[in-house]
Amino acid sequence: MNDTKIALVTGANKGIGFAIAQGLGALGCTVAVGARDEVRREQAVERLRAAGVDAFGVALDVTSDDSVAAAAATLEQTAGRLDVLVNNAGIAGPIDGGTQDPTTLDLDVVRTVLDTNVFGVVRVTNAMLPLLTRARSPRIVNMSSTMGSLTLQPGPVLAAYAPSKSLLNSVTAQYARRLADTNVIVNAACPGFVATDFTGFNAPRTPEQGAAIAIRLATLPDDGPRGGFFDDAGVIPW
Ligand code: NAP
Repeated sequence: MNDTKIALVTGANKGIGFAIAQGLGALGCTVAVGARDEVRREQAVERLRAAGVDAFGVALDVTSDDSVAAAAATLEQTAGRLDVLVNNAGIAGPIDGGTQDPTTLDLDVVRTVLDTNVFGVVRVTNAMLPLLTRARSPRIVNMSSTMGSLTLQPGPVLAAYAPSKSLLNSVTAQYARRLADTNVIVNAACPGFVATDFTGFNAPRTPEQGAAIAIRLATLPDDGPRGGFFDDAGVIPW
């Protein structure tokens, strides 16, 4: 088996996903840049190549069964396996006056946020698992948020976004249980409060800082932790 690791990062055209792609590339991975918009995807691939990363673009809208199936078929043909999957793509959904008020919540907003942040992760993970199980030490990282921690409950009231990350954490734990006796290691990560489009670039951490925990979990040794929720400081309470 070729020793170069193949990593797919969803939502890799900008923000934390781009920084994860760059960081994994700097470690020697070949990076599949999963992104839904062709122009933004190819620009990201060019920027990564200019930084010395072996990158290629994969059309990927995590809310579309067809798009995800086509992405898996592309990876099957080009790489034949997948060593790392980082489910990074995520959305907050509309925020009004700094909050998503549960007492007036539009359920269509909840459905949209869940479709990307949770169903998207399940859709992509299940499509990629046949490729992941062909790798020696497959790793899956789900980009969550401390906003999904029912213990901490930080930040503003966000009645669609925060529960989407709580559910993602729970889904992560179920995958880890299901895959416990395999070599597939699954964990959830929080990048911290990062300056990206997502936060209006009004946050203290850089995308590179936000990417660090995902990169660490994507490159865990075979005896690394499973089914956990981590940031740079260590374990995050559920
Ligand atoms: P961002 O700059 O808004 O980037 C989000 C990425 O997800 C973009 O590449 C976006 O693509 C992609 N995306 C959204 N919907 C998609 C879909 N249906 N299919 C494919 N790609 C899709 O946000 P970010 O700050 O880097 O956030 C990345 C992850 O970190 C998210 O899961 C977020 O919840 C999590 N997070 C962020 C923070 C923070 O402080 N920034 C804190 C905690 C957790 P387009 O360019 O096409 O929209």
